[in-house]
Amino acid sequence: MKLKEYKKKRNFLRTTEPVGDIAEESSANNFVVQLHRARAKHFDLRLEHKGVLISFAVPKGLSNNPKEKRLAVHVEDHPLDYMNFEGIIPKGNYGAGTVDIFDSGTYIPLEDFDKGLKKGHLKFFLNGEKLKGAWNMFRTDEQNWLAVKIEDQFAFAGKKKTKLAFDAAPVQLATLVSRLPKGKDWVFEIKYDGYRICAFVENGKARLCTRNGNDYTTKFPKISKALSNLDIENAVFDGEVVAFDENGRSDFGLLQSNLKSGKNNFFFVVFDLLALDGEDLRALPLLQRKEKLQRVLYKAENMLLFSAHVENGKETFAFAKAHNLEGVIAKKINAPYVGGRSNDWLKIKCGHRQEFVIGGFATSEKNQVLSAIYLGYYENKKLIYVGKVGTGLSDALRQELRQKFEKLARKTCPFSSPIDDKNAVWLRPTLVAEIKYAELTKDNLLRQPSFVGLRGDKPAKDVHLEVKNED
Ligand code: MN
Repeated sequence: MKLKEYKKKRNFLRTTEPVGDIAEESSANNFVVQLHRARAKHFDLRLEHKGVLISFAVPKGLSNNPKEKRLAVHVEDHPLDYMNFEGIIPKGNYGAGTVDIFDSGTYIPLEDFDKGLKKGHLKFFLNGEKLKGAWNMFRTDEQNWLAVKIEDQFAFAGKKKTKLAFDAAPVQLATLVSRLPKGKDWVFEIKYDGYRICAFVENGKARLCTRNGNDYTTKFPKISKALSNLDIENAVFDGEVVAFDENGRSDFGLLQSNLKSGKNNFFFVVFDLLALDGEDLRALPLLQRKEKLQRVLYKAENMLLFSAHVENGKETFAFAKAHNLEGVIAKKINAPYVGGRSNDWLKIKCGHRQEFVIGGFATSEKNQVLSAIYLGYYENKKLIYVGKVGTGLSDALRQELRQKFEKLARKTCPFSSPIDDKNAVWLRPTLVAEIKYAELTKDNLLRQPSFVGLRGDKPAKDVHLEVKNED
């Protein structure tokens, strides 16, 4: 049996590779080239022939340049189902690592394949997306062959490099809802609390961008380095840079204080892959993008984390509540990646928490220490007052904020309705603070607000009251 060796090498309880069987002999001549990141990275060329895939491991891949001979090691035949296989082969299995389809299409044998396999010479024409034209393969000894491009109109010297598919992208935002969505169209992720970052990786360099387009590459040098060390040509990632507290919770306040003190212990929790090796992936369904992302990050350094998802929203939300996390994000499994806010991503929060604009502050009469911060949000271009916050501020933070505020002082109250407070110092409304609170009172004021941190990454004009719309 032709697939005996294939089956002998694999334990199908432990790998998701297809079991496969020899198919009825068909006249189809499909081929696939898979990028296999195993112990050593290589390409696998597989040519359909008589119900199996004749397979070669090509360490450097086929070249389009007739002057470059490429080693191709003849390996065991694979089942036809392997043509569509992409995935992770778990540690401890034969060929452990990741498999991605690099190219596929049809081929034309230019000489008889059965005779060619016997005498050690194959000649074929590939009609793929990336690989096009005629190749010769010669056996040099038992298993080793050489693959050489034949001079034709598709041959060219030198290696074509792919370019990043795009170098700026509006990020996808989640809509706040009060209930978990129902149905099987959703998966759930933990909501992380840090800086939303888009990472553009090209030519061994990573650029980290915030939502407003600020460059944070040098703020997180270890993450930038780890991204640039990934074994890819280029890619665009979307995720959250976070600092974890001793309980493993992402903590925005800690992120900020660590940045200030120069503690470089940050993680990039990556939840989406928008482009890879020159291809724009945004039109693909979420789960396909995430599968690719998981493979790209499979061997990444440990500060790059894959944001895993689960299908059970109730369990995820209960977990988030029990661990005092901010909330969960629900994502539609079939939806493409679309910049801006949509109903394909929903956020469900464990408590109330959002950003507000700082419009003023008050100091204690005794010692002039900052005692409260006046907060608001924009509605129809008006800054609506929503109360003041005095808790959650350490002494050091009070001092630091005071200094920041002084530069923004102005005479008039920035809020749309006058506030009668003689102690207040009004400010140009440009700073944004993240606030936790119990609820909004009937008078539209925050109850039990607590200061979480300043948001350097969000423009004040974008701060609106996050309404809890029922879905
Ligand atoms: Mn392989």
